Amino acid sequence: MSGRVSTGLKRLDQCLEGGYESGIVTEIYGEPGSGKTNLVLFSSLYSSRMGKVIFIDTEGVSTERISQMERSDSVLSNIKFFRIRSYEEQLESVPKILNLVRSMNDVVLLVFDTITIHYRAEREIRSELRRKTSNTLITQIEMLNNIAASKDIPVIIVNQVYMDKTTGEVQPVGGSALSHAAKAIFKIQKLSGGKRELVVVKHRSLPEDLKCSFSITDTGIE
Ligand code: ATP
Ligand code: MG
Repeated sequence: MSGRVSTGLKRLDQCLEGGYESGIVTEIYGEPGSGKTNLVLFSSLYSSRMGKVIFIDTEGVSTERISQMERSDSVLSNIKFFRIRSYEEQLESVPKILNLVRSMNDVVLLVFDTITIHYRAEREIRSELRRKTSNTLITQIEMLNNIAASKDIPVIIVNQVYMDKTTGEVQPVGGSALSHAAKAIFKIQKLSGGKRELVVVKHRSLPEDLKCSFSITDTGIE
């Protein structure tokens, strides 16, 4: 059985039979404000008590939200944040960051929030680049899969959604390239108030449509 790494939240771990799977890429997608960043940040803060966490950030993570969740400087110093501001920077930085991770022996978790944000902008501006950008996304996911396997750690990639006009449903950005490469896929849905639901979309050992509930609170998630 693959190892599991805690999400940091007991009720989610129980629901997911241990948490995130080591050795593979897990994709988490959901609508804006669904709580993707809250979840991965919370998990990162929890894991950073056990070892180093790599957090690749394309959104500009809120330092205010981090300090609401965690006040210990020694915990925070175990999270290495890498800020990526553009599509070009992402192409250049990701291999470098992953090389660095390869040389470290105490990394316990790698998070990429949000892997597709610059792709989206790039595609919208210049549609002729569609195929080229897909290829570079596939290359990055392959690199992330390799790191997950060779380090035997969970790699969590956060993804945004778009409205599929033909089905009227929200779909994750990146299409089949992403959904094939990620061995586990979770969707986060907003319920009323601060309540959220993590839904298993794809997993090797958990049933599809399994639902795990949690809430976003002032100090994190519960
Ligand atoms: P995006 O796709 O825009 O990046 P996201 O899925 O990453 O969105 P988050 O930033 O994780 O979403 O979550 C935003 C939600 O968290 C909002 O509903 C917001 O109200 C809630 N939230 C943020 N801070 C607090 C807090 N201190 N107390 C309660 N809820 C909060
Ligand atoms: Mg976010």
